[in-house]
Amino acid sequence: MEIVEYLQQFLFYDLDILLVCNCFVTLSVGIVLVRAIWRWFWVTDSRTVVVYDLDMALHKNIFSRMHPERPERIVQPLRLLVESRLMSRLRTVTSREVTRDEALTVHTPEHWNFLEMLKGMTNRDLYKEGEELDSVYLSNDSFRSAKLAAGSLLAITEEVLTDRAMNGVAVIRPPGHHCKAEKPMGFCLLGNVPIACKFAMEKYGVERILIVDWDVHHGNGTQDMFLEDRRIFYMSLHRHDHGYFYPCTGDPNVVGTGDGVGYNLNIAWNESRKGDGDYLQAFYDLILPLASRYQPQLVFISAGFDSGLGDPLGNCCVTSECYGIMTQHLMSVCKGKVILALEGGYNLTTVSEGIKACCSVLLGDYPNHIDPENCVPSPGGIESINTAGEKIAPYWDNLVRFRKPEDERPVKEEAVSIHEYQEESRNNHSSINNHPATNHPANNHPPANNPVNQPTETVSQPTAEVLRYYSDFRHSSCHKSRSFIS
Ligand SMILES: [Zn+2]
Repeated sequence: MEIVEYLQQFLFYDLDILLVCNCFVTLSVGIVLVRAIWRWFWVTDSRTVVVYDLDMALHKNIFSRMHPERPERIVQPLRLLVESRLMSRLRTVTSREVTRDEALTVHTPEHWNFLEMLKGMTNRDLYKEGEELDSVYLSNDSFRSAKLAAGSLLAITEEVLTDRAMNGVAVIRPPGHHCKAEKPMGFCLLGNVPIACKFAMEKYGVERILIVDWDVHHGNGTQDMFLEDRRIFYMSLHRHDHGYFYPCTGDPNVVGTGDGVGYNLNIAWNESRKGDGDYLQAFYDLILPLASRYQPQLVFISAGFDSGLGDPLGNCCVTSECYGIMTQHLMSVCKGKVILALEGGYNLTTVSEGIKACCSVLLGDYPNHIDPENCVPSPGGIESINTAGEKIAPYWDNLVRFRKPEDERPVKEEAVSIHEYQEESRNNHSSINNHPATNHPANNHPPANNPVNQPTETVSQPTAEVLRYYSDFRHSSCHKSRSFIS
């Protein structure tokens, strides 16, 4: 009898424990489910990060309210991200200023000192200094905004390289891809993306970075800083108009020099109205094959939306859907590590819609479809892609379609510095296309190499565009076209 009572007691006791456990498990599952739903719809622990700071809106043209590079360029896209609920799915990274040491990795001390002095200048001096520069305006707050733009991009870069984030978008201004090592240029005060590249290489040991610059203007500043550096592969799609579109650089002949030869791609449109078909064709024919062979560890998009439909300066027709698709393609070549940095773009709706489309894709959404009619490249676009392909093909064995028989000749293993080349160009003795290439020694680089071959027997004369590229813009015919940008 005692045993029976004991068993009954144990059974009831056990049932109580089971009941408690059951409640506990049900509660836990409920909490997990509610949390997941909450995150999915509203709150984010996202692997996609965003950085912005409204102090970047302090930089403005105090002499002309009509200037296209205006504070609203970052305010309106941020508003759209909030309204479309994308912002709540992004994780915000705290902005910061770039330090002097970080900026001096690509800029001269004189350049930094000049920007530092802006805060104490009178309006008269600010105007005078701005007039001395090429398409630049200055204000007392310009330095603060420029430091925030460059520093905020570093903040996002750090998040991605430490694996706290997969990818990110920097809604920053002033832009940076025209800025030279020694002076501001083309609305740009500091080289945001170049500083971030140096930061990634020097602090985190990154060895291969791809920059894709789809701003309608060529990123002459970024290109010049890395022409000799194979750790940076700079690819630009831009209007060139045979050298008459600002900043008059970006000739497809410029493929890099010295150790960086073969790591600079200029897809130069020679007419307006380039659209989705042209950009996607350039991606499929050149950018993606080269990127997949290069195997970048990190991708920066110099995201200028002045190539977009409705931009008053670009007069091109890229849609927000196309920006999204291009972003998605670039995510596929570096395990998703893509950082998008705002460059130009002067139609507020176009910029906002473009950033929204790219953010959505970075978050993992499918990009919207493009109208099939827009997918057809123009004859002029195909011609530009073929020209760029022919110039870069001697250095990459997977660009079979663009290679010519003479590209198969043995490599002349000789490196010539950019300074020597500039001298040669001026003397009309050679062009970059006929420049002796460096060999590509075996290192931990992907096999981009053996195809490097140069025609050495026929030496063509340098084009007017190439010569112009290496001359001082202010004294060249390019100066005529300053009205294109400001
Ligand atoms: Zn631009």
